[in-house]
Amino acid sequence: MTALPLVFDAPRRGKPPRHLADLTREEARAAVADLGQPAFRADQLARHYYRGTTDPAQMTDIPAAARETLREALLPELLTVVRHQTADNGRTRKTLWRLHDGALVESVLMRYPDRATVCISSQAGCGMACPFCATGQAGLTRNLSAAEIIGQAVAAAAAMADGEVAGGPGRLSNVVFMGMGEPLANYARVRATLDALLGTAPYGLGLSQRSVTVSTVGLVPAIRRLTEEGRNVTLAVSLHAPDDELRDTLVPINTRWKVGEVIEAADAYAQRTGRRYSVEYALIRDVNDQPFRADLLGRLLAGKLAHVNLIPLNPTPGSPWDASPLPAQREFVARLRAAGVATTVRDTRGQDIDGACGQLAAADRVEGVPAVALPTPAVEAPVPLGAEADQG
Ligand code: SAH
Repeated sequence: MTALPLVFDAPRRGKPPRHLADLTREEARAAVADLGQPAFRADQLARHYYRGTTDPAQMTDIPAAARETLREALLPELLTVVRHQTADNGRTRKTLWRLHDGALVESVLMRYPDRATVCISSQAGCGMACPFCATGQAGLTRNLSAAEIIGQAVAAAAAMADGEVAGGPGRLSNVVFMGMGEPLANYARVRATLDALLGTAPYGLGLSQRSVTVSTVGLVPAIRRLTEEGRNVTLAVSLHAPDDELRDTLVPINTRWKVGEVIEAADAYAQRTGRRYSVEYALIRDVNDQPFRADLLGRLLAGKLAHVNLIPLNPTPGSPWDASPLPAQREFVARLRAAGVATTVRDTRGQDIDGACGQLAAADRVEGVPAVALPTPAVEAPVPLGAEADQG
């Protein structure tokens, strides 16, 4: 396995066209006024947009003559469906999206008895180079704009409302930033996305803070910034090793910010929000699943406002690693619990269609640019799929 460089600065590419979801309410009202329309039409447009309507025919509260102008100027189609793949008897759906410049990203909508979660991408590709993650191995194509990130959640909310996911019409309740990309490396756009997810109608989806999870490799300055911002979303830290020596290789950003610093930053976040953070740990056979590492992790987290979420490693193309065997997993859980650390094992469904954590790999393919590696499924596969990426 060749080590990839860490990439912080996303390549600059042509900006997506202006979209309502990139604008504050004031900016949207000004933009509408510039088009010669009364400012309140911005609110009407926003209400339609967040409800998943961009079809002018349905915007009956706006004069017919103005609808197309407003839609063209403020609701350009930023995300085009390339394909959906369903699994888990239709309760899970992965969508491959094409962006205006041909870059590809994926999101995964998962329905449970008590909630519906969408796992969204914040970047096309990722620059964090984690060797066990398909997205990380593909490198960074570019940052997504806020509207491109928000659009994934809006589409999921509309799909739920329209009953496109098995189980009848429902409501999107949770959003996790566990698709492609490192959300805290695209901070400003992710911050704007949080506003839209948590914002109330007409300018937002009205989700609750606890049901939105930002997952990070541990960009310490950005965690601190998030701590100061005053939003209380759930924080997840992708630790994957309790010791610096191993973490330096599994999560290369560790060469810059060490385990101790990451945990300290997460603790400060938990202190401020009063909400425990989640520690993500992909169990990799004979790599990070030894009993002594469970004990180290237990000592690291004992008494902290933290919860460990173990993820059986999802296979990625070209990787020599696989998931820990069940006995090793059980032993790991038992040792953590014995140390007094709340621990759950994430249920990973449907690796078959590459929809589970760390398997999203579409971003390496940009139209007109040859694929780097990573085969993706060619056909719609009605098999169980996964990315159980929820913090519940
Ligand atoms: N960049 C963010 C979001 C990434 S994906 C982060 O690193 O947190 C969400 C989670 O999936 C992360 O915890 C990530 O480490 C984990 N993951 C990546 N590849 C995986 C794989 N092959 N198997 C299991 N989990 C994986």
